[in-house]
Amino acid sequence: MSAAEDVSGDESREFERGTTNSVLHIDDVHKSFAGLHALSDVDLDVREGETHAIIGPNGAGKSTLLNVCVGRLKPDRGAVVFDGHVLTGKSPHEINQLGVARVFQTPEVFPDLSVIENVMVPALSKRDGHFSLNPFKSFAREKTLHSEAESVLESVGLQAHLSSPASSMSRGDKRRLELAMGLIQHPRLLLLDEPTAGMARHDTNATIDLLKKIKEGGMTKVIIEHDMHVVFSLADRISVLAGGRIIAQGTPDEVKNNPKVKEAYLGEEQV
Ligand code: ADP
Ligand code: MG
Repeated sequence: MSAAEDVSGDESREFERGTTNSVLHIDDVHKSFAGLHALSDVDLDVREGETHAIIGPNGAGKSTLLNVCVGRLKPDRGAVVFDGHVLTGKSPHEINQLGVARVFQTPEVFPDLSVIENVMVPALSKRDGHFSLNPFKSFAREKTLHSEAESVLESVGLQAHLSSPASSMSRGDKRRLELAMGLIQHPRLLLLDEPTAGMARHDTNATIDLLKKIKEGGMTKVIIEHDMHVVFSLADRISVLAGGRIIAQGTPDEVKNNPKVKEAYLGEEQV
């Protein structure tokens, strides 16, 4: 039984809380590390098709929340529900098979593979349920995949680096490569942890344009971001984490003018 079938029964859909058009529902999530409350009472709804930014000072719990969503960390309490499927307790692979892709804060690429091979791996893994280099797989299919990988790499501006080893890329280019690895999966939900960190302003702006274009295709995105220019260029709604708690939620204008948010950022860059 595949991961997708495994969760398609009525049992997994019993959890229908949250707002009517919410595609990702985070319900009362807690996570501690050796007594440190990294996340407390976190409730959050992400609506279908929106770009939802999660912002907050360093150490606020943003990456921890994302890792809970993708199955890398188990919450101590609470649940994460995607499209009616309870994700909590599932493996990262099972969650990925349900249509959730992620771009981590520290780029995770295969250093010994070329750029284009890196992009083909997640696509193969998604289609086959696991990564396989079966020589009997149709050559035509591989060719189609190769040209799809090429066009995704072109969309992130890496068309000149197709056969370069991933290990030779700059940090900013590795981030773009990881974005391409997420996009080729055509996920329903893309989770991005600081996708423009380490990029020069020019590349950051190109990434903003790309993410805007993806939005037109209807993909739901959750973006953790420190760069307020990126946040305010892209976000439909923003949730603010501080000390592991959601302290504000709303449209960019609502959040910008919220005194609690200004207070949380004192000593850091201004919102
Ligand atoms: P952010 O992404 O908002 O900067 P994180 O989610 O990385 O914050 O971290 C939240 C808090 O949890 C920080 O105090 C951090 O030191 C701590 N933390 C995160 N991951 C771990 C871990 N694996 N073990 C112990 N402490 C952790
Ligand atoms: Mg982080």
